[in-house]
Amino acid sequence: MKNIAILCSGGDVSGMNPAIKHFVEYSIEKGLQPYFVYDGFEGLIDNNIVSASYKDVSGIITRGGTKIGSARSKRFLEASYRQIAKDNLDKHGIDKLVVLGGDGSFRGMAKFYEEHGIAFAGIPSTIDNDIVGTDYCLGVDTALNIIREALDAVRDTASSFKRAFVVETMGRDCGYLALVSGLTSGAELTLIPEVSYNLHDYEAKFKKELSEGRRYFLAVISEGIKESAEEVAAWFEDVIGIESRATVLGHIQRGGNPTSRDRLMAYRFINFGIDGLLAGKNDKVSCYSASQFNYKSIGDVANTQHVIEPALMKLAESCLTC
Ligand code: ATP
Repeated sequence: MKNIAILCSGGDVSGMNPAIKHFVEYSIEKGLQPYFVYDGFEGLIDNNIVSASYKDVSGIITRGGTKIGSARSKRFLEASYRQIAKDNLDKHGIDKLVVLGGDGSFRGMAKFYEEHGIAFAGIPSTIDNDIVGTDYCLGVDTALNIIREALDAVRDTASSFKRAFVVETMGRDCGYLALVSGLTSGAELTLIPEVSYNLHDYEAKFKKELSEGRRYFLAVISEGIKESAEEVAAWFEDVIGIESRATVLGHIQRGGNPTSRDRLMAYRFINFGIDGLLAGKNDKVSCYSASQFNYKSIGDVANTQHVIEPALMKLAESCLTC
């Protein structure tokens, strides 16, 4: 069959729209008819599947989010709904899917492939950067740049008012965003779930710096650590003795105009994914590691515990320990 579809599943990221644009362009270049599936696996089940052309993707390269929507789908967990999804794809003559999502989505697709033979190319897309087998997930660079802008702005006001600012980043159980942001913004304190810490260890050092004239502290913490931003801010105030504020960045990290890197990576992931499908790689995730693209099986991606790249952990050692 010559028809191919794209869908987004799980959390949206900035970079999905450039990927959707290039999916249409590259599919046509390869002699395939592109289709959109709206709202993830829900759209497969509801037959929200529409053929696409160049005009559908004009002007979307600059926009965050995803033009075709994303969703989580409880129904897709059930075999009977996956059968409906397969029947709907058959109606459109589609037997290949490009899936922008996380490891949960790829697990779902692997099951769908096993049951119904619908080939898929998984494109890792999550700002958490916590998918095993790939050093880079779509959306990460845009999220890092949004955090950097926020931290630079907070630093300005912190130094003017003699305050400690505690900024919480997303990442679930993965401290990647906080680690890179703390390192590249020169934060005095960076806390991530992967590294155990005790705030008490920082007490003498921070009090000494304060007594010697330090005007502010910047702390970057990951949402997966044991304390909340409010609790760390309270520690600065009660124990270190400096007025403090807590800022939870939240979902602004997921939006914003995609950076050049995310646009370029979107293009490269799409080419690699579609090339794989055309070469008979029917159930693979397109990964990027050691500056190379490679195909990984779902077992390599979904069944292993993620760890942050050791070289990066080593580089950040001094900002992660007292
Ligand atoms: P994010 O990183 O944003 O959480 P994700 O792809 O990991 O993205 P999940 O919520 O884990 O997000 O999965 C997305 C969807 O994939 C689920 O809502 C479900 O429809 C489907 N899915 C996940 N696991 C399975 C499975 N074992 N069988 C069938 N479908 C699944």
